[in-house]
Amino acid sequence: MEFKPDIYFVASEIYPFSKTGGLADVLGVLPLTLYKMGYKVSVITPMYGRISTRDFSPHLMYEDLKVGYPWPDISADVFRASFHGMPVYFIDRGEYFDRRYYYCTHKGDYFDNCERFIFFCRAAMALMKKIGNPPQIVHSHDWHTALINSFIYYQKLSDPYWAETSTVFTIHNLAFQGRFSVRLFWDCGLPYEAWNPDGVEYYDSFNLLKGGIAHSDMVTTVSPSYAEEIVTPEFGCGLEGILQKKKSSMTGIINGADYSVWNPEQDKFLEANYSATSPQGKKTCKKDLIDNLCLPSEMLNRPVLGFIGRLRSQKGIDLLLEIIPTLVKRNIGIVILGEGDSEYEAQLMNLVELYPDNVSGIVGYTEEMAHKIQAGADIFLMPSRYEPCGLTQMYSLRYGTPPIATAVGGLKDTIVPYPEKNSTGFIFKNSTSQDLLKAIDQALEVFDDKEAWMNLQLRGMKADFSWKKSAELYVKSYQKLGLGRKKSKPDTI
Ligand code: ADP
Repeated sequence: MEFKPDIYFVASEIYPFSKTGGLADVLGVLPLTLYKMGYKVSVITPMYGRISTRDFSPHLMYEDLKVGYPWPDISADVFRASFHGMPVYFIDRGEYFDRRYYYCTHKGDYFDNCERFIFFCRAAMALMKKIGNPPQIVHSHDWHTALINSFIYYQKLSDPYWAETSTVFTIHNLAFQGRFSVRLFWDCGLPYEAWNPDGVEYYDSFNLLKGGIAHSDMVTTVSPSYAEEIVTPEFGCGLEGILQKKKSSMTGIINGADYSVWNPEQDKFLEANYSATSPQGKKTCKKDLIDNLCLPSEMLNRPVLGFIGRLRSQKGIDLLLEIIPTLVKRNIGIVILGEGDSEYEAQLMNLVELYPDNVSGIVGYTEEMAHKIQAGADIFLMPSRYEPCGLTQMYSLRYGTPPIATAVGGLKDTIVPYPEKNSTGFIFKNSTSQDLLKAIDQALEVFDDKEAWMNLQLRGMKADFSWKKSAELYVKSYQKLGLGRKKSKPDTI
């Protein structure tokens, strides 16, 4: 008996199968939360070569599923895994997805990214039809899957199968738009009328994310503040015009944290577990981090600052790298985990060489090290120039590692700034290295006051960003679009 979902999430990443950032974390928990609330949900995602399937081995479900117009001869295999009961469908076509990286190598984006994700969206639609219960909601995420909402928008006009389907599009990061040559538009299967400034056209380029905004019944983004920011030229990345037009159907819903994964009380990567009621283990985690990174043991008694994230200007890594020599003069420890622009990676390696007793930098990413830094650092740095939601600051709060962050997007929405009564971290206004340094100095003053620091840590650890509240807001949005009014079909053999 095949499960017949009412709600399909369609996304290019889902933790623990694939991950390059927060998108995967969200997909790894939001659909499952809805599923556990009793909704008939599943996820469709690509079958990457480097997919991690340890505990959830997918099995072949359909072989040679034809993706249809405009590629009648091309087909996909579909694998299925049960992820804590919820079906996850993997679209497999080796030539597109069986690669070392997801979207790009160090030399740049894969040349055929547009074709890969046109194919994926087409195959996802073919799969939804094959499963055979017209979905009530199709919820796509970021540019990779935006096109599916554009396809549905136009298919509704000619194919009754999609007549009752409503589409939701979530922007996790407006800066990544999937912009391609107009030539690729002509082959993608959208009708000519989609090529206009209120559709997928963006100054002569084919803009997939813009299509998702234009053609979806509802657009959401991942924090209320970011929803307000992106309709302005400063944060709109050139799409503020179309976002303003969509404002009435746009909403900002803050992401949650998955406390089954990010919780020091039961974190399998940590040397010792701890919690707000029993916080002693944090010191053991600090020692373990220092030992693992070969920093001198005197750092155990000095403040250690942690940074985890993509090494890109969005994350303000340049602001941090600039002030490292000053921080070293104060004998502060700095631990950085991430990968990204080769220029920043090289600068980081240079600083590690210059200041081995204070600076530890790991170019790359492992979940284990991310967890160890969250637990072992004293202060977490997030000097982002913009931040749609940000998850790492929510994790750091739970790990008793108060964040220092810029006053943007989801950072503003999740951190109560010192010296407010219920403060949980530190916020600074301007994205400059001087302001970052001032905020670090302010934090270090509080750090020296053991009682004030402990109270700040405990307030952060007790803050609750679990998914339930946000998942309920998504349900309300789906209901506005008709979820529940349309009859869910029984599962059939
Ligand atoms: P992003 O803008 O990268 O999505 P978020 O704070 O929303 O930032 O999400 C960060 C998530 O991605 C965290 O789980 C973090 O540990 C993880 N992460 C950070 N850097 C990397 C990386 N280079 N590769 C994979 N995951 C990463």
